[in-house]
Amino acid sequence: MKDSPLLIATANPGKLSEFRAIVPRTIELVGIDGLGIIMPPERGATFLENAEAKASFAARESGLLALADDSGLQVDSLAGEPGVRSARFAGEPPDDRRNRQLLLQKLKGTPPPRRTACFVCAVAFAAPSQILGRSTGCLSGHIALEERGSGGFGYDSVFLVPDGRTLAELLDEEKNVMSHRAVAIAKILPDVLYERTIRRESRRNES
Ligand code: IMP
Repeated sequence: MKDSPLLIATANPGKLSEFRAIVPRTIELVGIDGLGIIMPPERGATFLENAEAKASFAARESGLLALADDSGLQVDSLAGEPGVRSARFAGEPPDDRRNRQLLLQKLKGTPPPRRTACFVCAVAFAAPSQILGRSTGCLSGHIALEERGSGGFGYDSVFLVPDGRTLAELLDEEKNVMSHRAVAIAKILPDVLYERTIRRESRRNES
């Protein structure tokens, strides 16, 4: 019998393609759009709480194994802000451009060595009745003095990686091997492969 698809609990096509780039092609992935699932608002105090809530909800609603992520930017000199509020840093409705402008304004006068920051991503893996795994990934860098580059989304055009480019100046393939999300997904893959193997074996024993 064929393995069930793995549900990626996001409606964001960019995130879905980051998952696709890392998860082996032998695993069929589906997004929540295809199943008509609407995710509830994020209410957790940490990235991990949000990722767990999303993965559990999506797994319960679909009956499938599900992966979910939650991510954001932490700026050291702002005591970790915008953190879990990254998407809504400048208020509702979420607006990437206004978020970046607010960030640059808050860091006005902060010299480059003190503009350190990291992108953080938490990933949770869930079955309908329980959480099966958790992982985190981060990408360290600096906040630029001004926006540069036209690729990516969110805070990409103000986030400098060590070679001096912003994430918005990287090719997708370059970002997808180093990003906080890529690291967290790669770290949770063994849990996913293990669980799918166990389930396949138990189906085989039952038949
Ligand atoms: P969420 O994981 O969809 O809740 O994303 C939270 C917010 O963090 C996004 O709306 C972006 O503002 C920011 N963010 C997360 N990952 C990235 C990234 O890879 N590049 C730029 N911004 C990001």
